[in-house]
Amino acid sequence: MSFETDFAAAVTSREVAGRLDEHDPLASSRGGFALPEGCIYLDGNSLGPPPRGALERAREVIEIEWGGDLIGAWNGRSWIDLPSRVGHKIARLVGAKPEEVIVADSTSINLAKLLGAALAMRPGRAKIVATPDDFPSDLYMMRAAAESHGRRLVLSTDPRASLDEDTAILVMTHVHYRTGELRDLAALTRAAHAVGALVLFDLAHSAGALPVELNAADVDLAVGCGYKFLNGGPGAPAFLFVAERHHATAANPLPGWLGHAEPFAFAPTYEPAPGVRRFLCGTPPVLSLAALEVGVDSMLAAPIARLREKSMALGNLLLERVRGRCAEFGVEPACPLEAERRGSQVSFRHPAAYAVVQALIERGVIGDFRPPDVMRFGLAPLYLRYVDIWDAAEALREVLATRGWDQPRFARRGVVT
Ligand SMILES: *Cc1c(COP(=O)(O)O)cnc(C)c1O
Repeated sequence: MSFETDFAAAVTSREVAGRLDEHDPLASSRGGFALPEGCIYLDGNSLGPPPRGALERAREVIEIEWGGDLIGAWNGRSWIDLPSRVGHKIARLVGAKPEEVIVADSTSINLAKLLGAALAMRPGRAKIVATPDDFPSDLYMMRAAAESHGRRLVLSTDPRASLDEDTAILVMTHVHYRTGELRDLAALTRAAHAVGALVLFDLAHSAGALPVELNAADVDLAVGCGYKFLNGGPGAPAFLFVAERHHATAANPLPGWLGHAEPFAFAPTYEPAPGVRRFLCGTPPVLSLAALEVGVDSMLAAPIARLREKSMALGNLLLERVRGRCAEFGVEPACPLEAERRGSQVSFRHPAAYAVVQALIERGVIGDFRPPDVMRFGLAPLYLRYVDIWDAAEALREVLATRGWDQPRFARRGVVT
């Protein structure tokens, strides 16, 4: 704690923050993103901003590949290989072998596919173990999988205590979407394996944000998101991981034709493709995959340990500034204070969190609200500066001190929050 506090406390002025930016080894990567002028973007964990290369790549795919080659581009431009090719690149970000990761569908659908596969691999075990406040889509999918397979969903704030010989699988997010709490992949996996259960981790808030070592932790299955820290664009496809040792036995419960060993044999019966490719269902979204590849490439260009180091420093600084400047207005941390126990986000509680976030957005500081009372700020070290953190905390103080949030227009909720 002391180093962190000392570091953040030493940033005593905007000028000091500016000097940190001057010496930041990641400073030049900011120019690779198309961010609107005057905007402090603390929402890269909900929707990453466009890498500059994405626009050019999308134009090339539409005009030259689609427009020029038409259907011939599936072979000629290797569109058909995109799910594997981008999967191989994501594998490097999550500590997996290239052939263990593929890009497909949404995170929710990938979770459903892997849950179905896992339950079939552990027949006769009744329990899916998870935590009660995990990401809702994950909980819905787990409940549905339990019901359709005649199993039980057991929710526990201490999931390790619920693991036993009757457990088929433990399912958790690696970083909690609201609190930012970082879970110990290796320890949870060991605990599950000790009773013969499988593990499935959701990496939506960790892939591209911090080092993830799936194989070192001996993880069985994982899913992750393409449009958050991987900057793949709105609705970018997600990815999934199946450890190589399960490739022979993991079956896709949604056996679509592109997961077939020979899709273009048009055989009337299903024969799974070898390896993780069997978890494809239908035709891949080529435009989105092409954009996602640019996003993933921009992540691979920066050493992940350096990203993590800066993200921890940004988080410590935001916590320190907000605690110092905003505590008197009832703002309290809603995330772990120690950087090692946090993902790449910081969150705070305030009774008027929704309106406060809206008022901040109007001032160009974009974060998001998560019910019931949480303000969440994502910290993407590729394009955020220390001065942005300084300015964001000052903007928050101003909104609170002037009660600038207390206006009817900030109370109206859009469909997407
Ligand atoms: C964002 C997120 C998802 C999103 O799933 P989609 O189906 O791709 O929209 C799933 N799980 C977690 C933990 C998330 O944060």
